[in-house]
Amino acid sequence: MRISRRASDLATSSTLALDGRVKALIAGGADVVNMAVGEPNFPAPAAAAAAAIAKIESGHVRYTPAAGTPELRRALAEHLTATREHPFAPEHVVVCHSGKHALSGALLCLVEPGDDVLVPLPAWVSYVELIRLAGGRPVEIAPIGGARPDLAAIRAAITPATRGILLNTPNNPSGYVWTRDEVRELSALAIEHDLWILSDEIYRRLIFDDTTFTSPLAFAAELPGLAERVVIIDGASKSFAMTGYRIGFAAGPPDLIAAITRLHSQTTGSPNAVSMAAYEAVLREEPPEVEAMRAEYAARRALLLAGLTELGLEYVRPDGAFYAFPDVRPYCDERGAAGFCEDLLDEVGLALVPGDAFCLEGYVRLSYALSMERVEEALVRLGRFLESRRAAT
Ligand code: PLP
Repeated sequence: MRISRRASDLATSSTLALDGRVKALIAGGADVVNMAVGEPNFPAPAAAAAAAIAKIESGHVRYTPAAGTPELRRALAEHLTATREHPFAPEHVVVCHSGKHALSGALLCLVEPGDDVLVPLPAWVSYVELIRLAGGRPVEIAPIGGARPDLAAIRAAITPATRGILLNTPNNPSGYVWTRDEVRELSALAIEHDLWILSDEIYRRLIFDDTTFTSPLAFAAELPGLAERVVIIDGASKSFAMTGYRIGFAAGPPDLIAAITRLHSQTTGSPNAVSMAAYEAVLREEPPEVEAMRAEYAARRALLLAGLTELGLEYVRPDGAFYAFPDVRPYCDERGAAGFCEDLLDEVGLALVPGDAFCLEGYVRLSYALSMERVEEALVRLGRFLESRRAAT
C-alpha cells in the first residue's frame, strides 16, 4: 500500500518509543530504573475518578458539541481568567482530546506551507514534527547553557517568512521556567513582527521554590494587540496526573477557536464525555492531591539536584515540570548523548532520554516522576557509571 508522503515523513515520538522499549525490558524481568518517563507516577485525583464513574452511570454518555460541553468550556474560561491575568469567555476555549491534540489542531489552523515557526531549544519532541506536518518549517534556536532562551538569537532568526513562535514554560525537557522579563520581551517581539505565540503551559502548576509562572497574556493589558496573537495549550495530563483520560484544550482568539472546532468536528468529532466530566470536577474542586503531588515532586527535585551537583554535572536550575537536563558532553564519545544513554541502560540499568530527542545534542533528560527511593537508586547508578567513564579516560 502506498503511504502518503505526509505520513512517511512523520517520525515516531522518540520518547514514547524509548518508554515502550524500557517498559518491555522491565516486563521481561530486567532491573531498570526508568527515568525516561514523561508521566506523573500518581493516581488521578479521587474527584476525577468519582466524576467519571458518575458520568458513566448516569447513562448520558453521548456525543457533545465538537468544542466540548458548555459546562467544561465555562469552567475552563473561569479557570483561565483566574490564573492568566486576562479575561476569558467560553468562546475563547476549545476542548480537545489532549494537549497534543490541541497543539496539532492549532498548528494545522495557523501554519501555511512555507511558513517558518521559531522553536526555542530544547523543545518537546512533537513540536517540530507537527510544524512539518502542517507544511511549515521549524526554525530551531539554540539556548544559552542548555536551557535559557537566547532572545537576541530569536530576534535575529525572524525573517519575512516567520509566522509564529512556540513557547513552552515550564519547559520539557529542561524544567526551565521563563522569567517575567523574558516572556515580556518575547511578547513585545511578537507584536513588533506580527507573529503568533503558541504558549504550551501544560506544566504551569508544577513549579517550585519561589518561582512564578508567567503567561504572555500577563502583558495583554500593557501590550495592545497581544491577546489577539496568543494561543494557550494546556490539559489535565500533568497537573492532575490524568494522562490516560486524554483531555486538554486550546484557548485563544475566537476565530482560531472556531477554526480548530471545525477541523476537529471533521476529524475527531466531540471530545470524550467521561473525561470532560472528570476534568470539570478537578477544575472546580481543586482536589488536595494536586498540592500533595507538587510537594512530593519538590522533595524529589531537591534530592535529585543535590545528587547531580555532587556528581559534578552541570545544569540550568529546573524550577518547574519534573525534569532535569544536565550537560553530559564531557562523558560522551562520537555517538553523543544517544550513545551515553545506550551504555547507561546496558551497563547500570538506568534509562534516560538523550537530548537529541529534544533537538539538543550533548544533554540528557532525567524525569523525577518516580519514588524517592528510585531517585536515590538512580543517583547511585549514575554515579557508578560516571566513575567508570572517568576511570576509562
Ligand atoms: N506539551 C508538553 C510540553 C508535553 O510534555 C506534553 C506531554 O508529554 C504535552 C504537551 C501533551 O500532553 P497530553 O497530550 O497528554 O495532554
